[in-house]
Amino acid sequence: MKKQLSGLLTRATFALAVISLLSVSALAQTPKKLLLVTVTKGFRHSSIPTAEKVLGELAAKSGAFTIDNVRQSEGDAEMSQKMTMAQLAKYDGVIFANTTGVLPLPDKAGFLDWIKSGKAFIGMHSASDTFHAENGVDPYIQMLGGEFRTHHAQAGIECLVQDKDHPATKPLGESYCIEREEVYLLKNYDSANVHELLVLDKHPNDKSVFGRFPIAWCKKYGQGNVFYTSLGHREDVWENPTYQKHLLGAIKWALGLEEGNSKPQMR
Ligand SMILES: [Zn+2]
Repeated sequence: MKKQLSGLLTRATFALAVISLLSVSALAQTPKKLLLVTVTKGFRHSSIPTAEKVLGELAAKSGAFTIDNVRQSEGDAEMSQKMTMAQLAKYDGVIFANTTGVLPLPDKAGFLDWIKSGKAFIGMHSASDTFHAENGVDPYIQMLGGEFRTHHAQAGIECLVQDKDHPATKPLGESYCIEREEVYLLKNYDSANVHELLVLDKHPNDKSVFGRFPIAWCKKYGQGNVFYTSLGHREDVWENPTYQKHLLGAIKWALGLEEGNSKPQMR
């Protein structure tokens, strides 16, 4: 009887272990949900369709996340319908791929609070050319950590990796060389507020001018994870497998699927 009971218990324990393993793997396989915003109220990059294609492929290939698009539309209908607080509640985060200008978010303060509550924000290139303030710094830019100031002629650059363990930069090795890109010079950026991932040690257009020029970083915003890379002007940058690894690592980090440091190195 005792033997039967212990056999029964062993089987029950085993069954429970199998059930919990199954539920853990089911959880791990549930893709996260991202909104991909490509709405522009200023300059519109010709690389936007390429960005949408590449991010869609990364979602499908990785199985880590799915994408719903918020595109330019008549009367801003897509943004006003798909980005209400009730709609945002269905998502784990948002990607701003080459957005520009003052976007018609239905509730901008609510949107920022939504990120703060523990959502992911991933911004590429002109995501920092979005929500310029006439005076002072817009709260969106404070969330992002930096703002587009200007750019000069396209140039070849060597981006120096500042964190070799972070998912966004781990695949890049010591540095990431790009043959040709429009490189942003930023304002309202403070290295004490961000965890730097890529920087230049020379001015992109005048290599005799040494300095520190931020290219990509991540940071916390409340409980939320924020990632920004200023790269992503050109179609061939988006098509580059190295850039895509940079983005996929960043997205996984921002969604909490992979660990990475977000503490400012300069503090
Ligand atoms: Zn550009």
